[in-house]
Formats: sequence, structure tokens, C-alpha cells
Amino acid sequence: MKDYYKVLGVSRNATQDEIKKAFRQLALKYHPDRNQGNKEAEEKFKEINEAYTCLSDVEKRANYDRYGTAEGIGAGFGGFGAGAGFGGFTDIFEDIFDDFFGAFGGYKKARPTKGADLRYNLNITLEDAAFGSEKTIKIPRWQSCDVCGGIGAEPGTSPEICPNCKGTGHIRFQQGFFSVSKTCGKCHGTGRIITNPCKNCKGNGKVRVQREISVKVPAGVDNGSRLRLSGEGDFGSYGGPPGDLYVVINVEEHPFFKRDGMDIYCQVPISFPKAVLGGEIDVNTLNGHQKLKIPAGTQSGKTFHLKGKGMPRLGSHQRGDQIVSVYIDVPKKVTPRQRELLEEFASISEEEIEETKGFKNRLKDLFSV
Ligand SMILES: [Zn+2]
Ligand SMILES: [Zn+2]
Repeated sequence: MKDYYKVLGVSRNATQDEIKKAFRQLALKYHPDRNQGNKEAEEKFKEINEAYTCLSDVEKRANYDRYGTAEGIGAGFGGFGAGAGFGGFTDIFEDIFDDFFGAFGGYKKARPTKGADLRYNLNITLEDAAFGSEKTIKIPRWQSCDVCGGIGAEPGTSPEICPNCKGTGHIRFQQGFFSVSKTCGKCHGTGRIITNPCKNCKGNGKVRVQREISVKVPAGVDNGSRLRLSGEGDFGSYGGPPGDLYVVINVEEHPFFKRDGMDIYCQVPISFPKAVLGGEIDVNTLNGHQKLKIPAGTQSGKTFHLKGKGMPRLGSHQRGDQIVSVYIDVPKKVTPRQRELLEEFASISEEEIEETKGFKNRLKDLFSV
């Protein structure tokens, strides 16, 4: 059994603060970023992490003091062995250093990072929303440069370790009592200097490309519907996964239909005789047109439901209705013959016609002057 107190160089009576302080000093010294390729330092670093993981936890420390293991009798101290790899102690390392310095630049930067998610606003017609469609969109995104493999160095050359920060990506200096760390200005925290930049990406390791992506718009989408295209966002750095692409739907205003959820509304003119006598009209639908029976004596504003002619529910075969509201189309001009018939109709209905009266009055006015 290792002596964790000895590993951290503290006494068995050390306070938690003393343990933390000792770990901080040792971890800085043996951190793999500052000892690249040094196996001994790597082993040492694992050891101090193991010790700190145990002693920084009051309960584990008590078990260790009593039984010589962090987990109490029988459980053993697994989980943090050789298999853990570097990723295993990142969290604890950051925990303790965030207190003092904030993020530990160089180390953080080298971790695989998921690429940025992208957003694309897609305008579609109501018909597209009703029946689904496939759209090709052009989207600019960052991709790993395939000439240099994303490294940024001209093929055949390789980046050098930054001489300014020795590859750690940050510079440490003393400020009063405190040791302060800041991002290295020479390598911008990457720890590497590219002396021979790749011509294709100018050393960035990434290139902006315009990509054509086919988007399947499912039937039933509405304004603000978001389609997620997994992995179609910006590429991830240091081997991280790419981001996602979110296509946000905007359904354009339709000249004829108004949508309300699954139902669509429209207004259709009918002639006065058809309203009175009844008949049949032709109504536009989302995919063509169909006949609609108008009963005799239909009033302006009466609505008719065309079942199943509305919008589908997203992901189902259920469809809303098309609601047709009719209004009586009043002709702005009539022929003399039409006027004659209408006046006759009016006289049978014992109705006085304003327009005619007005005309007579005007004549009367004209001659009475
Ligand atoms: Zn390149
Ligand atoms: Zn540097």
C-alpha cells in the first residue's frame, strides 16, 4: 500500500488546506503538459492524483487512515489505476486550479472539443409544409483542412513546441504572494508554433467551405419547427465530434389559405343567384381543387368543412380540415339587361331601388334650377 501522505509530502495530521496546497505544487511540477514525453513525470503525476483523490475526501481519508484503503474494508481502491488515462483526473485537476488561476489554458485547449452548432433559417411554402419536401441548402461551415489533416503545418513539416511557454500554452509569473498563469501570447495557448504554415488553410488547420446539404422537411412542420441534422455543424477540434445543424422552419404566408394549427381557412366568393338558388362551386385545395355543394339560401359568411383537406399532424397520418367561408360577390357593374332583371326582381320584392331614385332626384334637381 502506498503512503499517500508521503506521496504528497505532508504529515498525517495535515489539514485539508495543507493537503490541497501540497497537491497544487506537485501537480504543477509534474503536470504532463509541462513534461511532454517524460514517463517518470507521468507516473509521478498519476501517483499524486491518486493520493489527492483519497486524502482530499474526508470520508475516504478516514477509511484510509483506519484500513489503509480509501473505500473501507473489502472494497479496495480501484478505478483510478493505470487504466484511467489522463482524462480521468482532468476534473479534479481543474477543480483545484480554478480556485487559484481560473482555467488552465494549455491543458484545456488540447482537449477534444465538440464543433459549434449552426442554425439555418429555411423558408418553405404552405404546400411544402403540408406534404413534406426535400430542400437543398447551402451552408458555410468550418471543416478540418484535408491538405494538412487539420494540423496547420505544411505537409512534410510538423509544428514545433512553443519556446516561449515550453509547450504548456501558458506563462506563469509571480505577482505578490500569488503565482499567476496567463495564456502564452506567442502560441495563443496551443503550446505549438507552426513555422511552415499549410498553404491551403494558412496554418489554421481549418477551412471555411460552402456545403450543399439535402434537408428532408417532414409533412406537418410549422413556423419555428427545428430540424436537427446531427453532425452537420462545424467540425470539432482535437478529434472532437462535429456540431449539429439546426434548420429552423419559416412557413411563408399563403395568398389564399390561412393556417391555424392543423386547419386551414379560406374565403370563396359565390354569386348572388348561386347563393339564393344553390349550386356547385370549384374550390382550391392544397393539392388541386374540388367541388363544393352550395345549398339554396346560403348566407354570406357561411362555412363549409372539407374533411381531411387541412394540414397533417407532424409524424402522423391525421389531417385537419379545410374550412371554406363563402361570401356573396356583388358585381361592381351590370349590363342594362341585368339591371332590368334586378329592378324587376326588386319590384316584385316590393323594394325601392336607391340608385334609380337617386338618378331621378338628380334629374329633378337639374331642371328645377
Ligand atoms: Zn491546412
Ligand atoms: Zn506558447
